[in-house]
Amino acid sequence: MGFDDDHPPSRELLADCVHCGFCLPACPTYVLTGEEMDSPRGRIHIISQVLDGAPLPGAAQLHLDRCLSCLSCVTACPSGVRYDEIIADTRMQVERQAHRSPGERALRGAVFGVFPYPRRLRVARALLVAGERSGLRSLLRRKAVRKHLPGLLRTLDGLAPALGARERIAELVPARGECRGRVGLLTGCVQSVLFSPVNAATARVLAREGFDVVVPARQGCCGALSGHAGREEEAKRFARETVDCFERAGVDTVVVNSAGCGSAMKEYARLLRDDENYADRAEQFSLMTRDFSEFLSLAGSRATRGPVEMTVAYHDACHLAHAQGIRAAPRALLEEVPGLVVREIADPDLCCGSAGVYNLFQREWAGRLGERKAQAVLATGAEALVASNPGCLMQVRAASEELDSPGHAIGYYHLAQILDASLCGTPLAQPTSAPGG
Ligand code: SF4
Ligand code: SF4
Repeated sequence: MGFDDDHPPSRELLADCVHCGFCLPACPTYVLTGEEMDSPRGRIHIISQVLDGAPLPGAAQLHLDRCLSCLSCVTACPSGVRYDEIIADTRMQVERQAHRSPGERALRGAVFGVFPYPRRLRVARALLVAGERSGLRSLLRRKAVRKHLPGLLRTLDGLAPALGARERIAELVPARGECRGRVGLLTGCVQSVLFSPVNAATARVLAREGFDVVVPARQGCCGALSGHAGREEEAKRFARETVDCFERAGVDTVVVNSAGCGSAMKEYARLLRDDENYADRAEQFSLMTRDFSEFLSLAGSRATRGPVEMTVAYHDACHLAHAQGIRAAPRALLEEVPGLVVREIADPDLCCGSAGVYNLFQREWAGRLGERKAQAVLATGAEALVASNPGCLMQVRAASEELDSPGHAIGYYHLAQILDASLCGTPLAQPTSAPGG
C-alpha cells in the first residue's frame, strides 16, 4: 500500500464518490487547467490508486500538493463526499512521505520555523518596519526593480502588509453596559503580529456588544497553518497548547476572527481523537469555538450602529463559507450598518489562492487565482473589499497591485474593522493602506 497505516484515507469515504463531476467547475485548480487530475474527482481517483499500492511521491504528490484544501468541492458535491476528511488524512501521509527538493525543504523549514511563533515573527516585523523606514520597500516596489526580483521575494514583498504601530490589547477588555457573558479571544500568530488592529477592533466590538473579552497573554499559534500543510505532530502540539490556554482562562466560548484558524479549531476533536488526555477536552473545545460573525449573529445585536458611508464587496473566505458553512452571518452584520452598500463578487465560491501558505508554496497557481479574484473584486466598482480572513485580504490586495490597474487603490478591511467603525466610531485606514495596517 502506498500509504502507511497511520490513519490512511478511508475507503468508505472514497466510495461515496459516484464520479458525477458536479464538483469539477467548483474546483479552482480544475478551472485553471481543465485537467482531470487537478479536479476533486481526479484526486479521489489518485488517492484510491495510492490506497491500492501506487506510489505517493511523484505524480500523485504533485496533484495533491496543488489542491488548496479550499473545500469548494465539499459544498458542490450532491453526494456528500467528505473530501475535507479525505484530504486532511492524505496531507499527513504526503508530508511523511514527500520527496521535495532542497529549495522546497528550505522554504518550508523557514515558513514553519517562523510564522507560527509570534516572538520570531516580531523580529521579521521589525525588519519589515526598518525596510519601510529606510525606503527599501518603496524601492523594491518600483516597476523597474520589481521585475528583476526573484519570484519568492516578489511574492513576500507583495503580500506583506504596510505596518503601522502595533495595537496592544489588555488581558481583559470589559463589557460596555450590562454584561451578557465572558468570551475568550484567539489573537493568533500572524494575526497578532501583523494585524493587531484587527484583533483590537474585534475586542472593542465584542465589548461594545456587552461581552467581557478575555485575551490570554500567553497564547500562541492554533496550529492551523501546520495542520493544513499536513504537519501532524506540530499541529497537535499547538492544538494542545491552545486547549490548555483557554481552559485556564475559564471561558465558555472562544471567538476567532480568522476563518482558517476557526475551521482548524473546530477540527481539534478529530485531530486529537487518539490522545487519551485530550480527546474529550478537544471535543469540548471545538464545540465552544465560534467565528466572530457567527458569535455576534447568535448573540443578536444590541449596540447602536453609526453610519459608514461606503460601498464594499464582501468576499467569502473558503474556510468560513465551505469549511464552516458561514455565509449569511457576516452579510447580515454588514447589512445592519447604516450607509454601507454591499456588493457581491462574481464566482464567490472560487478560492482567491491564499489558502494558508499555498501562495508561498504554489506561487504560480496562487498568482493566477489571485488575479481572477482581484479582477472580480475590482469589477464590482466597490470602494473596499471586506473579508473575515486576513490571508485573503493580503492575497487580493497583492494580486490587484500586480494587475497595475488604476482602479486597484481600494480599501481592504476585516469585517471587525467595519463594525468597529460603525459601533465605536474608530476611523478606517485610508483606502490605499494595506489590510489591517
Ligand atoms: S466528489 Fe461528489 S461531485 Fe465530485 S465527482 Fe464525486 S460524487 Fe460527484
Ligand atoms: S479542496 Fe479545493 S482545490 Fe482541492 S479538490 Fe476540492 S475544490 Fe479542488
